[in-house]
Amino acid sequence: MKAAEQAAAILRGYNGRKIRIMEVCGTHTHEIFKQGIRKMLPENIQVISGPGCPVCVTPIDYIDEAVYLALEKGCTITTFGDLIRVPGSEKSLAAARAEGAAVKPVYSPLDALEYAKDHPEEQVVFLSVGFETTTPPSLMAVRQAKAEGVMNFSILTANKTMDNAYLALKDSADAFLYPGHVSTISGTKIYHDLMDQGISGVVTGFTGPELLTALAVCVKKVQEGRPFFMNCYPRVVTDEGSPAARKLAAEMTDLIDSEWRGIGVIPKSGLRLKPECADWDARVKYDVPKMEGRANPACRCGSVLKGDILPTECKVFGNGCTPEHPIGACMVSGEGACAAFYKYGRDF
Ligand code: SF4
Repeated sequence: MKAAEQAAAILRGYNGRKIRIMEVCGTHTHEIFKQGIRKMLPENIQVISGPGCPVCVTPIDYIDEAVYLALEKGCTITTFGDLIRVPGSEKSLAAARAEGAAVKPVYSPLDALEYAKDHPEEQVVFLSVGFETTTPPSLMAVRQAKAEGVMNFSILTANKTMDNAYLALKDSADAFLYPGHVSTISGTKIYHDLMDQGISGVVTGFTGPELLTALAVCVKKVQEGRPFFMNCYPRVVTDEGSPAARKLAAEMTDLIDSEWRGIGVIPKSGLRLKPECADWDARVKYDVPKMEGRANPACRCGSVLKGDILPTECKVFGNGCTPEHPIGACMVSGEGACAAFYKYGRDF
C-alpha cells in the first residue's frame, strides 16, 4: 500500500477521542479543501484554521493607518491586491481610492520601489505585511532605496513572526500543521524548542499525499500522549532554514510586541525597522497617529483565527458577508478561512 493510502486508512479508521489539528498557513487551508481531505475525515478529527493568513491577522488599525496616509498625507499606497478591499474602521483602501486616493496594486516591494523611482513627484508607501517569507523582499527594497538614496519610498510595516503565535495558541489545538513556506526560512529548530515547551506539530508540504501523511502522523502521535515534532517536508524544509534571510531581518529590524487581529498583542511577534532606517519607515516619516481600530461588531474573524469557531458559525457568513461584499478580512483574502469555506464547502 502506498504511503498516502496508508495515511488515509489511518485517518478514516480513527475512532478515539476528538483531536483538534490547527493549520497555520492559508495555502494549507485551501489545499485541504481542494484535495477533498476535509470530506474524508471522521468527525473526531477536526482541522481548524489558525492565524496563517497574513492579511487576516493584520489588525484593523493598520488599514486605518494606510487610509490616513493615502487621504491625509497624499501618499501613493502600493500593496498586494487583497489588502485594498479589507474594511477599515470607517473605510477600506478601495473606498479611499473612490474618494481620489492613489492606491496601486503591485506584485512585489521591488515593483513599488521601481514605481517610486519612476515617479519622483509622488511619496510612495508600500504596505509590508506577512510572515517570515514576505519580510525579506520588503527589507531588500528598503536596503536598495537606502543605497540608491530613493527618499520618496517607504514601507508601513505589519510584519510578524510565527514562533510566539504558537505559544499564544497552545491550548487551541492538540497539534499544529506548521507552514511549509515559513519553515523554509525559520528552519526546524524553533519546533524542537516548542516541543520542549509541550507544543506539538508537523511541518508539511502542500500536495494531497503530504497533507494526508502529516495529518496521520499527528493523529498517531497525539495518541501517544507526548509532545512531538516531525518534519514531513524534508525535501524543502531543512534544519537550518535560511540563515541569510534571518540575518537580514536581524540587521534591519527590531522584534516588538505586535497586535494580531482577534488574538490581541503577542509579545515579541512583530518587526519594526531599526532607527537607522527611519527615513524609510512610513509610520515614523509621516508621524502617523495611534489608531484605535473598530471592527464591524458582526464580524467574528477573531474567533475564526483562534479556531474557536468555524467560519460557517459566524451569523453573517454567506448572508451579508461574501467575497463580493466582505465584512471581515478572512472573507477578503485569497488565503482566508472564510473565503475557503465559502469557495469549497459551506457544509463543513
Ligand atoms: S464570515 Fe465574514 S463577518 Fe464572519 S468571521 Fe468571516 S469575514 Fe468575519
